[in-house]
Amino acid sequence: MYSKIGSYIRELYKSQDFIPLSAPVFTGNEKKYLEECIDSTFVSSVGKFVDRFEEMVAEYTGAKKAVVCVNGTNALHLAMMLAGVERNDEVITQALTFVATCNAISYIGAHPIFIDVDKDTMGLSPTAVDHWLNTNAALHGDECFNKSTGHRIRCCVPMHTFGHPVHLDELMEICNKWHLELVEDAAESLGSYYKGKHTGTFGRIGIISFNGNKTITTGGGGMLLFNDEKLAIRAKHLTTQAKRPHKWEFYHDEVGYNYRMPNINAALGCAQMENLEQFVLNKRETASSYAAFFKEIEEIEFFAEPAGCRSNYWLNALIMKDKKTRDSFLQYTNNNGIMTRPIWELMNRLPMFRNCQTDGLKNTEWFADRVVNIPSSVNIHLLYENQIK
Ligand SMILES: *Cc1c(COP(=O)(O)O)cnc(C)c1O
Repeated sequence: MYSKIGSYIRELYKSQDFIPLSAPVFTGNEKKYLEECIDSTFVSSVGKFVDRFEEMVAEYTGAKKAVVCVNGTNALHLAMMLAGVERNDEVITQALTFVATCNAISYIGAHPIFIDVDKDTMGLSPTAVDHWLNTNAALHGDECFNKSTGHRIRCCVPMHTFGHPVHLDELMEICNKWHLELVEDAAESLGSYYKGKHTGTFGRIGIISFNGNKTITTGGGGMLLFNDEKLAIRAKHLTTQAKRPHKWEFYHDEVGYNYRMPNINAALGCAQMENLEQFVLNKRETASSYAAFFKEIEEIEFFAEPAGCRSNYWLNALIMKDKKTRDSFLQYTNNNGIMTRPIWELMNRLPMFRNCQTDGLKNTEWFADRVVNIPSSVNIHLLYENQIK
C-alpha cells in the first residue's frame, strides 16, 4: 500500500527525485524586482518595496493596515506587546502548534495555558476554551483572572493549523465575553478565508509568516495585520527602534526593536504576492487530487478543510490509524525520497512549557499520534499547464 501511495505522489509531482514537503517557487518577477532593488542601493530598512509589500498584503487580506517584520516569530512577539500582555500574565493557546507561538509569549515573561483543539479544524476549540474558562476563570471588572494561579489572562492566540481556519465566530464571542484580546497566529494561513473573510483579520491583531516553507516567502519575514490604524502606527514605531521621524536627529522615545523587514526581502515579497492567488488555487487542486486518491484507502483519512472555509492547504495532512502505522509510513516515505513528517512535538511536552496548565488535551493527543504531513509544494507542472490553458 505504501509503495502505491509513493508512486501516486511521484506521479502527481512528475518527479523521480527527492520530493520536499514545501519548497518555494520563483516563477514571476522575483529576479526583476531583486535586481531593481539592488540597483537602487536601497536594500535595507527603507525603500519602495517595503511600503508596496505592506499595501499588497493589506489589500489582499482586507486588513486596514499591514506592518512588516523580520520574521513571523518577532511579529508574534510584537503582537503580544501590542495586545497588552505583561510579565506573569497568562495567554490561552493550543499545544498543537509550532514553537514560535509559545516562544513569543515567553519573551514577554508571560505563560501559555494549553487548551484542546477541535477534531474538524485541528485548531483551538471554542467549546474547550469556553468550558475551561467557566471552570477556571473569574472576571474582576473587565479583567479575566485564573482562579488557581491568581494571574491575569490577557489574550487568546488560536493558530490556523496547516492553513485550516479555526471556528472564529465562536472564539470571538468567548473573547468578548471574557475581555480577552484575540490575536490570530495566521502564520500558515495566508490565502485562507473563514466565511469569506481572510484569516488574521478577526481580532485587532493578526500575524503572517513568510518563511521559506510557507505559501509565499521573502526568505525570512513576517507581517502584522491590523484593523486599527493607531496600533499599526505604534507597531511601525516599535519595529524601527522607536525613533521619532526626523530628517537628521536620532531621538528614541522608548525601548524599540530592529524588527523591520529589509527592502530586499520585501522585493521578493512583492513578486510572490503577484502569484499568491494562483499558488493557492494550485495547492487546492493538489489537495483535491489527494482527497480523491485517499478516499479509496480505507485506513487513511485525508484531512479536509472545515465547513464554511477556504483553506490554502499550506500542508496536506493525513490521519493514520494509530501511532504504529504512522511511524511505518514515515519510515517508508522518508527512506524512499518522499519527505513526510509527523506533527510538531506538543508544546506541553517541551521542557520549557512542561509545567504550563492544560485542559487534558484529549483531541490534541489523538492528533499527535496520527497526523502525517505529505508533500504540498505548489505543483510547477500544474502551474505551467494552467498558464497555457
Ligand atoms: C512559521 C510559523 C511562525 C513564524 O515563523 P517564522 O519562521 O519566525 O517566520 C509562527 N507560528 C506558526 C504556527 C508557524 O507555522
